[in-house]
Amino acid sequence: MPVTIKNKEHIRCMMLAGEILAECEQLLKDAIRPGVTTLQLDKIAEDFIRSRGAVPSFKGYGGFPGTLCTSVNEQIVHGIPGTRRLVEGDIISIDMGCYIQGFHADMARTYGVGEISPLAEKLIRVTEESFFEGIAFAKAGHHLNEIGQAIQKYVEANGFSVVREYVGHGIGRALHEDPAVHNYKVPGRGLLLEAGMALAIEPMVNAGGCGLRLLQDGWTAVTKDGSLSAHYENTVVITDENPILTTMPKSGIM
Ligand code: MG
Repeated sequence: MPVTIKNKEHIRCMMLAGEILAECEQLLKDAIRPGVTTLQLDKIAEDFIRSRGAVPSFKGYGGFPGTLCTSVNEQIVHGIPGTRRLVEGDIISIDMGCYIQGFHADMARTYGVGEISPLAEKLIRVTEESFFEGIAFAKAGHHLNEIGQAIQKYVEANGFSVVREYVGHGIGRALHEDPAVHNYKVPGRGLLLEAGMALAIEPMVNAGGCGLRLLQDGWTAVTKDGSLSAHYENTVVITDENPILTTMPKSGIM
């Protein structure tokens, strides 16, 4: 599939979708505490997204049952919301999508539940920072593979590893569009980035090895060695200058 180029109007819609997720994220951040179930978080997010006249992108996508992917501790991505209660010291990755006016936004964050270990703190911080290392190359005139290379370099310099089996992606009218955005070095320079391309850039970082396995539910990916995993994602629109982070409207990076 060709990589789609968004015009001004498309970008306006994508920024609206991103803004809804950013607001939703604030609600979730406040709701995450020991004792809350992942299904309760899912309901908060679904109610909020629908209250804004939008649709949760993930619900029903490929049969996924939730508005959120809720991935706890050694779960990397695609955890299904359910009756699990968060406990002090857990970390939880929340991934969510929003669809409005024909366009999607996609965003993920990892949070600590109450007090967490120094290792968990570092993992969350390095994962977030690796995204910003990557988007230093998310500009017209750069090549796609520079992004993943920068992410991997930063993550490994901090003693962690990058998940290979799941990658970021183009995004727009469809939740998942071309190109695939690897979070690690792949051969070649990759696609030449142009203004108007939109990418969901989403490093998934393990505290231990990069290996994973899939749970019996067919969705939840967990680290093979049981180590903690974190996830950080924003939907990014490429421009000639700094990218627009649609899911971080107050970032000041525009
Ligand atoms: Mg994504």
